[in-house]
Parts: sequence; C-alpha cells; structure tokens
Amino acid sequence: MKPLVVITGASSGIGEELAKHFSEAGHALLLIARRLEKLEALNLPNTMCKRVDVTDYAEFEAAVKEAEEKYGPVDCLINNAGLMQLGQFADQDPKEWINMYDVNVKGLMYGMKTVVNGMMDRKHGTIFNISSVAGKKMFPNHSVYCGTKFAVHAMSEAVREEVSSHNIRVITIAPGAVETELLGHTTDDEIISGYEDWKKAIGGALKPEDVANSIMFAYNQPQNVCLREIVLTATGQQ
Ligand code: NDP
Repeated sequence: MKPLVVITGASSGIGEELAKHFSEAGHALLLIARRLEKLEALNLPNTMCKRVDVTDYAEFEAAVKEAEEKYGPVDCLINNAGLMQLGQFADQDPKEWINMYDVNVKGLMYGMKTVVNGMMDRKHGTIFNISSVAGKKMFPNHSVYCGTKFAVHAMSEAVREEVSSHNIRVITIAPGAVETELLGHTTDDEIISGYEDWKKAIGGALKPEDVANSIMFAYNQPQNVCLREIVLTATGQQ
C-alpha cells in the first residue's frame, strides 16, 4: 500500500475524481466532506471516509490523526474543498462572502496546519492547494470568490517558501472552468445562465479527470521537483 493521501471535498467533482485516481495508484486515503454517504458510495479500498466540515479545525485534525493511526503518516494533502457563490457585489448577501471565505481560505489554512508539522518532522510531503484561474485574474460577479482564490495563491507560495527546506512541496493548482456541481451554489439565476452560455461559447469546460491527471503528474515527479503552480483551462477559454 502506498502512503496516505488526504483529499478534502471528495464527495463530488474534482475531489471525487482525485480519490479514484489515487486509489487506483494504490494509496491509502482519507476522504473528507460533509456528505459522508457520497464518500462511502465510492467504496474504495484502504480508505477512511469522514464527515468533516473543513471550517472546524478540531474535526479536521481529529480525522487526520485517526487516519494516520490506521494507515501511517500523511504524505500528500489535497486541499480541494471549495465553494463558489457568484454575485454582483452590491446585491450579494454578505453571508455568501463569509461562506466562501470560511471554506476556501480558513478551511485550506486548517488543512495545511493539520499536516505540516508531521511533514516537517519526516522531511517529506506534498500539499496541493486548489485555487482557480479566478485566483490569477478578475471576472465580473466573482469579487469575493476571486479574493478567496488570490488568497489561496498567496498563502500557498508563502507557506512553500517556509517549508521547502524541509523537502515539502506546496503546489497551487489553478483550473479554468470545470464541469462539476460548483456553479450550483450560486443563488442568482441570471448569473448561472450567463455562466452556462459562456461555457458553451468557449467550447465547453474541462472535465474533473483533466485536473486529476495534472495533479497525479505533479505528485509523481521526483520529490526534488516541485511544480509550484499549474494553470490549466479548456483550450477555448480566454
Ligand atoms: P464541487 O462542488 O463538485 O465540489 C466541492 C467539494 O467541496 C464537495 O465535495 C463538497 O462536499 C466540498 N465542501 C464544500 N464545503 C465544504 C465544507 N465546509 N467542508 C468540507 N467539504 C466541503 O466543485 P469542484 O469539484 O468544481 O470544486 C473543487 C475545487 O475546485 C474547489 O476548490 C473549487 O473552487 C475549485 N475550482 C473549480 C472550478 C470549476 O469550474 N468547477 C474551477 C476552478 C477551481 P460536501 O458538500 O459533501 O461537504
């Protein structure tokens, strides 16, 4: 069995696909999300499934500890859980801003904190932080989502600077549009239909496996090779 990989947001989309890829490659897994039934339905071997809200540090830390007791130390964390609620800044309910900040920023910091000390002690590890093209450029209706994803880029690179001498890779993944459940959390119907039209106009979005393949490629590089950032989009996306 290959070392333990922790994947947050593994109940759908990119995280679900990552779980299948890493399991296929022979890794033990800790899968995290709130919809436990969807994690369990994947029915993967050597896998612990935990209902964890990533905005709760104690829950997150306890799940990692339990998985390490069973499968050994975490070698790879994929901070993938995320929330996108698009909206015009002037109209949007501030609760949506806080929801996105909590999951995309706080949850990601918590994830790194649960594993980084162990990785530093062992002088080995890889952390993937899933950002977005929206963490590199601005789009209308994305003000707070962009803010959270710019924060992901900033935190990832800053942490990488601190831990690189301990043989830990921190890799930021910035996908363009991917066909998943993500848009379903936006509450403005006009914005949803505009986004769907835009995806058609660019010739369609990426599939979750496109992102999973890039992450597997980066993980499988020798440990002394750190692909610090991967930006991938559908070819037709501007
Ligand atoms: P999905 O909505 O399909 O997946 C999001 C995952 O995050 C779900 O498994 C969900 O699980 C989990 N999640 C959300 N909130 C929490 C929470 N509080 N605690 C634990 N888990 C949580 O979307 P994607 O697969 O597209 O998203 C994955 C990542 O990719 C996100 O970070 C997203 O921002 C990023 N991304 C996506 C793009 C796209 O176009 N789809 C483009 C660029 C980046 P559950 O609800 O069961 O808790």
